[in-house]
Amino acid sequence: MTSHLLLDAVSKRFSNDHAPALDAVTLDVAAGSCTAILGPSGSGKSTILRVMAGLDPVTSGQVLVDGVDVAGLAPERRGMGMVFQRPLLFPHLGVLDNVAFADRVRGVPRAAARRNAELYLDMVQLGGYGRRSVRELSGGQEQRVAIARVLAARPRVLLLDEPFSALDPELRSDMHALIDDIRSALAPTIVLVTHDRDEASAVADRIAVLHEGELLQHDTVDGVYTRPASLRVARLMGGLNEVPGMIVDGTHVSGLGRVPLDAGRDVSDGSATLVVRQEAIGVRALGVRALPGDAAVGEVVGRVTGVRNLGARRLLTIVFGAGGAADIELNAELPPGQGVEVGSRVAVTLPRAAVSTVRA
Ligand code: ADP
Repeated sequence: MTSHLLLDAVSKRFSNDHAPALDAVTLDVAAGSCTAILGPSGSGKSTILRVMAGLDPVTSGQVLVDGVDVAGLAPERRGMGMVFQRPLLFPHLGVLDNVAFADRVRGVPRAAARRNAELYLDMVQLGGYGRRSVRELSGGQEQRVAIARVLAARPRVLLLDEPFSALDPELRSDMHALIDDIRSALAPTIVLVTHDRDEASAVADRIAVLHEGELLQHDTVDGVYTRPASLRVARLMGGLNEVPGMIVDGTHVSGLGRVPLDAGRDVSDGSATLVVRQEAIGVRALGVRALPGDAAVGEVVGRVTGVRNLGARRLLTIVFGAGGAADIELNAELPPGQGVEVGSRVAVTLPRAAVSTVRA
């Protein structure tokens, strides 16, 4: 029950007066893998799912499932199952018959379809709920039934369109665990649309970052966070640090000093902006009267100008320089328990593996 999905230069235009909703998007989703489509509102996330499912025709390009162009196939013949933000269960059918629906449409006798439905209800941890009316279910349970109903149709590709965004945070993390269970049991190819970065990294192997209909990067979760393809990706992934400078002989040179870069990336000489995640920066408190000379090799001394609480963690703003337009500002997220105040001096390290550069 798993297929390779390829979008090959897919464009979608709803009208000639507007920019395309999808602009020559090429996206390769390996069989059995899970890709999260992440992007701001209006970036084309739902449209990408709808053209995969065949709910909207492409303007140009191809959708290929296991190498076969599915353009001529109606949605129900594409072997794709779609779960929406709202569960859309049949209110006149009980839970079991909602899940048995696909088999019944295929002509499977009722008893066999119901036996099958029980298996999928078990998989979504609702074994024993089959006799209930869908009106007796909570929001989270309804969405579990919707997922069981789609799985019972044995899709080759599972398309999830913000399916958990209406649920509260605790239920949402239960649903993420459920997706893990489904992946272990059935290994379907999954495309999940979300605008929630944490959800994308909790559930998916890879993240496809979409902006104004353009696919900016499709990479591993670590790749999009740590090695963004552009400043836009870095910002969409919530990255806060951008240090303009130059690459000279494999080293980034800026007001922060010289930061060695990993070979194997694009380290050719020229102007480049250094990016480093706020979570990756090391911070050592030095006290108020510390001097730049107190730093060890590889450390840079800065002054804390802001401290913001983020739940258990704290976000520091640290300024480097003598005070002026050339000052560099970095943000660093501290683990719980580290006390640093505004005005303190800190020695900062940028772990080499966490540093990346993007071209202007
Ligand atoms: P997202 O899911 O990322 O919020 P959508 O895929 O819904 O974005 O929309 C992408 C763009 O396409 C938006 O500019 C939206 O207005 C436009 N769009 C989506 N569906 C239609 C439609 N049926 N008719 C006209 N424009 C549409």
